[in-house]
Amino acid sequence: MYKKIVLFFITMFLIISCTKEGKLDKNINTLIEEDKNILIGINYPVTGINALDNLIQNDIEKIYNDFKEQYESFNSLTEKSELNIDYIYDIVNENYINVCVYVFIDSSKLSHPNQYMKSYVYDIRENKLMSIKDLIQEIDFPKFVSLVSTEIVQNYSNCILLDKMKNIITITYNFPLFTFDTDKVTIYFNPTEITASYCDVISIDIPISKFELKIELNDDEEDIVLKEIQIPTKVIDPNQKVVALTFDDGPSKYTEKIMEYLHKENAVGTFFILGNKVEIYKNTLIKGIQYGNELGNHSYNHKWLTKLDVDEFLMQIDKTQSIIYETVQYKPKVFRPTYGSLNNKIRNNINLDIILWNIDTMDWKYKSVDKIVSRATKNIKDGDIILMHDTYERTYKAIMKIVPILKEQGYQFVTISELKQIELLRKQREIEID
Ligand code: ZN
Repeated sequence: MYKKIVLFFITMFLIISCTKEGKLDKNINTLIEEDKNILIGINYPVTGINALDNLIQNDIEKIYNDFKEQYESFNSLTEKSELNIDYIYDIVNENYINVCVYVFIDSSKLSHPNQYMKSYVYDIRENKLMSIKDLIQEIDFPKFVSLVSTEIVQNYSNCILLDKMKNIITITYNFPLFTFDTDKVTIYFNPTEITASYCDVISIDIPISKFELKIELNDDEEDIVLKEIQIPTKVIDPNQKVVALTFDDGPSKYTEKIMEYLHKENAVGTFFILGNKVEIYKNTLIKGIQYGNELGNHSYNHKWLTKLDVDEFLMQIDKTQSIIYETVQYKPKVFRPTYGSLNNKIRNNINLDIILWNIDTMDWKYKSVDKIVSRATKNIKDGDIILMHDTYERTYKAIMKIVPILKEQGYQFVTISELKQIELLRKQREIEID
């Protein structure tokens, strides 16, 4: 019979960064739900600052509950209603944080999608939300107002309602939607505030150099060190059974624990990650790659992809590919569609391998660890792909039971790309034997 094959001997260059670890938590909460009439994809930051986290969480809960109330029993014959919440989480320095929450609701009940955002700029030292007047010197405010108006007219002439804009944007206006960093202040307007309802959220950048700030901003530089990482040689026996563990919707605060456990057990998995969480979980991902796991693309913010037009769909994929590459120097080769939902538009436009699954643990639905374990292991066969989500603690607990059971049955744990290579090798052998 044929010998064991040796797969992969890779030397990779990864950027390891040493960031200052403050008291801040840097986690993203993810909630993905699918029901008869609705699809829900929510991601939002958890900063570790209780007052801010409570505020954000309450706002999100309200949006979630309102959406469910309005759409859960709304049965459209054509398509489901969708709620998607995306975010910006930007730590300016040890004193200031920006969080934005972007809400997208689409339903055949609506004539066009309902999109809006909310911003939270937090002063950590003062322990309070900031207003634009805490940021910009009063004397410079008229200048700031006029800069904003000019930028809007220049960039959004096709969408703005000029009279409305002139009434709102005056020196008494408080600009409730804004963020800032060490280079610029960004001002936002929701649709219907100064634009027609079908327009996107407007965002205008004004360089900080154009006016005086009330606060002092010093840049916290990241020390970036290039390090050579050698991923160890891996031996897989193609005569023995293989299984691919896959995890969607992460990374999350549980991902690293799962990766550590798999590593200890000499196992690997494939993590289909969301682009909007890559930067926050950079260190987790670096560790995951070092341990021989595979990273896959699961879109940027878990939008319902079959509903997007080709450009929007490609933006979801490409933005995720580039943020993964820029952050951890890794190019995913595999893609899993959100909600497992596929059409020809996706099939014809993607240049990554589309990967579904054979075994669905339904870990997003079942709260019992044993139920998840039993669904993962009961009907398993050689070459299967198991679907899980690394966004739940119960999945972490379940994996610690699943791995020993499958090991006992003689399974080897492989990534999706390794699985493909083994399938190919086995096919070639079959042809040779014939
Ligand atoms: Zn998903």
